[in-house]
Amino acid sequence: MKVLTLRKRAIVIGLCVLLCVAGVVIYFTAIRPTFQPKPQYTIVIDAGHGGKDGGAVGAVSGVTESFLNLEYAQELEKICKEFGFKVVMTRSDMNGLYSETASNKKKSEMAKRKEIIEKSNADLVVSIHMNSFPSSSARGSQVFYGEGNEASQFLAENVSTILNKNFDYAKKTAKVGDYYVLNCTDKPAILVECGFLSNSEEEALLQDEDYKERFCYNLLCGILNYFRM
Ligand SMILES: [Zn+2]
Repeated sequence: MKVLTLRKRAIVIGLCVLLCVAGVVIYFTAIRPTFQPKPQYTIVIDAGHGGKDGGAVGAVSGVTESFLNLEYAQELEKICKEFGFKVVMTRSDMNGLYSETASNKKKSEMAKRKEIIEKSNADLVVSIHMNSFPSSSARGSQVFYGEGNEASQFLAENVSTILNKNFDYAKKTAKVGDYYVLNCTDKPAILVECGFLSNSEEEALLQDEDYKERFCYNLLCGILNYFRM
């Protein structure tokens, strides 16, 4: 009787050891790979406008779009780096990208953006802007992509879907946008209008630190979805 009990005990212990081994094997083969370092992707983050070109202006606070674009671009840069992405910024201060001596500053600025994008070896480009419209009721983010660029469209749809899910007024679908920063490259590129500075409520929200963090985190989630990460 005692021998049988010992044998039973041995079987139970044996089973436990087997289960532990199986658990370790499953962890390392099935679960562990998702925690392994991600392939190194590079993202160009483009803060729209800058220098003499302030872009849109807040209807109430007078905040400039070029300032907010930089704020959002730098927040997105911080979060992307935390997730292991390499980031190339087109601008990191309030100066314009144009040459001071250029007669056509807009042309000079655009050429510089294109040069940075082309030299970056980036996997994708995200251009940050703030919108404005004559009617103050217009509000909500909108994601644009260049016509005929399937990868850009796919990226735009991924980002747009996340924003729409998590922000009340975010536009439902991504749209084709005829913007130089989208048309100047074959890389997947999107332009995100984060919200309307012509809507006083949204103007205040866009300047809120928590809102900025939440918005940029959602942009990153859209990018992660695009990479299937
Ligand atoms: Zn703009």
